[in-house]
Amino acid sequence: MGLCVWSPQTLLGSNMASYQRIMLAVDLTEESTHVAERALALAKAFDAELHVVHVIEPLSLAYGGDIPMDLSTVQEQIHEQAKSHLAEFANRLQVPDDRQYLIFGRPESEIQRVAESKEADVIVVGSHGRHGLALLLGSTANGVLHGANCDVVAVRVGEPEKPSEP
Ligand code: AMP
Repeated sequence: MGLCVWSPQTLLGSNMASYQRIMLAVDLTEESTHVAERALALAKAFDAELHVVHVIEPLSLAYGGDIPMDLSTVQEQIHEQAKSHLAEFANRLQVPDDRQYLIFGRPESEIQRVAESKEADVIVVGSHGRHGLALLLGSTANGVLHGANCDVVAVRVGEPEKPSEP
């Protein structure tokens, strides 16, 4: 029986193991830079296309009907601000305009949806490694992972939380 030796070159050379389209999901906080660095490194290693998505959660979804006022002006301002932040962020990564997506909705499902529609083979998200109640409540990374039909790379961000003393 022959011996099969796997090297990075063998893996990168095979279609099965190579990524062609990477969907980077950013919340546009400071941590996004660290997540983007990993996505960029992945894109370079695989000579893959890098795409960037930011999802704006509609205020009506976040607050329901709890605020008795017209939120459309505030929502419009949030949209304009997010649009310029996303463009600035993506341009720094040299991601062209037609690979930048600004979407309204729930982050988890919209990230999955845009990744699927653009035929991304991996989604890159940040992950806070939560514990306790926060873990039970879930996170965007968890939400994306459950239901994504491609690979998901979770990049650890933020301070690692110390487990509480017994
Ligand atoms: P969170 O679980 O909300 O702390 O977010 C962790 C990661 O999920 C972020 O680093 C992003 O990769 C992704 N993410 C969260 N919110 C959004 C958003 N509104 N749009 C795109 N990606 C997001």
